[in-house]
Amino acid sequence: NVREAGGDNIVSLSNATHKAINRKSIIEKRLLLALDQQNLKVFYQPQVDIHTGKILAVEALVRWEDDQIGVVKPEELIPIAEETGLINNIGTFVIEEACKQAVKWHKEGLDLKVTINLSVREFRDKNMAKSILTTLENTQCPAKLIQIEITEKFALEAEAETSIIKQMRQLEEEGIVFILDDFGTGYASFRYMQLLPIETLKIDQTFIQSLLQSEKAQRLIHGMVQFGKSMNLTVLAEGVETKEQQQLLQEYGCDAIQGYLISKPVAEDVITKLMVSSVN
Ligand code: C2E
Ligand code: MG
Ligand code: MG
Ligand code: MG
Repeated sequence: NVREAGGDNIVSLSNATHKAINRKSIIEKRLLLALDQQNLKVFYQPQVDIHTGKILAVEALVRWEDDQIGVVKPEELIPIAEETGLINNIGTFVIEEACKQAVKWHKEGLDLKVTINLSVREFRDKNMAKSILTTLENTQCPAKLIQIEITEKFALEAEAETSIIKQMRQLEEEGIVFILDDFGTGYASFRYMQLLPIETLKIDQTFIQSLLQSEKAQRLIHGMVQFGKSMNLTVLAEGVETKEQQQLLQEYGCDAIQGYLISKPVAEDVITKLMVSSVN
């Protein structure tokens, strides 16, 4: 019986693997088309001052609904895009959209920055910084309106690291601010903090979700906030869903929050309305 069950498992496992490979190649094909037809969208989620609730910036998050395969969530899309190299095309699209939108808000007199996500892996491209600066120029977007969240899910070879450091410093000199995303879960948070020009530390939402569950979690997160402050960094918490979480984070000295408590990621016109109503 055990052997039979094992046999079944092997069959279903290989079926699942087969399906996954199939799905991946479908997504890859549809994504190429979507990029070509500019069928991707960008949603924005507010990052607010924990004390005043003022929107300081909005995070640009890619959204894709395909005619044939429906909504593909970033958590499925981004890893496949990274594997196939299409992440650079997504990056190019999101950066351009974000810059255009930042300029639009700026011209409307709204004071907010736009935050872009880039994986450390995208900086393997030695022309990354240059292409970002070119986009800023083409869209006439001041560098100070743009922040970059950097994630580090993979280990990098030394040569790539050198290239990242150089490119990030170059962008920093132009006035772009860097945020270390998913802090606490990444591959080399502390190492990157030492090497890279990071201005803000963003505590990963998995920690925030555990905040009210145990005293141990509270001590850990309190420690993370204190650590960030002791490094002279701005501390931002993501995935804040409740008032209780916000209050604790505020007690700990956290500077800014982002999460469903404030707003889900929304289309740009919703952000404009939020900004205008908070100004008046
Ligand atoms: P991230 O950068 O850590 O973004 C935060 C994710 O948490 C977003 O998911 C956001 O919608 C979600 N979130 C925000 N507040 C809450 C909350 O209060 N509760 C819960 N449960 N979730 C919340 P999303 O948009 O699905 O993106 C997932 C990940 O995909 C992002 O994680 C980011 O790493 C990546 N990603 C998204 N857009 C891009 C992009 O344009 N380029 C790159 N390289 N990565 C992207
Ligand atoms: Mg992010
Ligand atoms: Mg994050
Ligand atoms: Mg995260």
